[in-house]
Amino acid sequence: MPNGATTNADTCFYCKSNPSNTECAYKHELYLIQKRTIIPYGYKASSAEIEIPRCEKCARKHDRFGGGYGIVFVIIWALLFFLIRQGDLSFWQASLGSFFTTLLIVAVPYWLANTYLFKMITGIPAEDQIQEYPQVKEMLEVGWLKDRPDPSSSSVEESLEKQQRTEK
Ligand SMILES: [Zn+2]
Repeated sequence: MPNGATTNADTCFYCKSNPSNTECAYKHELYLIQKRTIIPYGYKASSAEIEIPRCEKCARKHDRFGGGYGIVFVIIWALLFFLIRQGDLSFWQASLGSFFTTLLIVAVPYWLANTYLFKMITGIPAEDQIQEYPQVKEMLEVGWLKDRPDPSSSSVEESLEKQQRTEK
C-alpha cells in the first residue's frame, strides 16, 4: 500500500462535512496488474482493499439506492416472466430468459443512473465514485485500477505502462 496522504481521515469523503463512522466505511478493492498472461489469456494481478471514510447519513443514501435497484429488478423480472410464460416455454426457460433480459435492461440503466444521476439527486458521489479520494488518486496514478478489468480490456496494458513510466 502506498503511504496515502489521507488528510481529513475523520471526515466523510462523500459529503465532506460529517465526521466518518468506522462501521460505515466503504470498502473497495483495487487491482494492480503484475503481468499479462497469454495461456490462459488474462493477467496476474495483486489487490488491495482500501477503506473510504463515510458517515452514517451517506451510507444510508447509498444503501437505499441499492435497495431500490433490487426492488426494480424483481418487479421487471416478474413482469417479463409472466409475459414470456404466455408462450410455449417451460418454467425454467421462462425464468432464465426473463432473468437475463432483466439483467440487460436493468443493469445498464442502473450503471448510468449510479454514475451520472446519483450525485444530482442526492448531492453526494455514488459509492464507487472514489477516484478523487487522495489515497485512491495516488494509486491510480501509479497504475492501480479501480475495478478488476476484463481480460481483453486495454486497461490491463495501461496499468502496466503506467507502472513502467512511474518506475523510471
Ligand atoms: Zn457523509
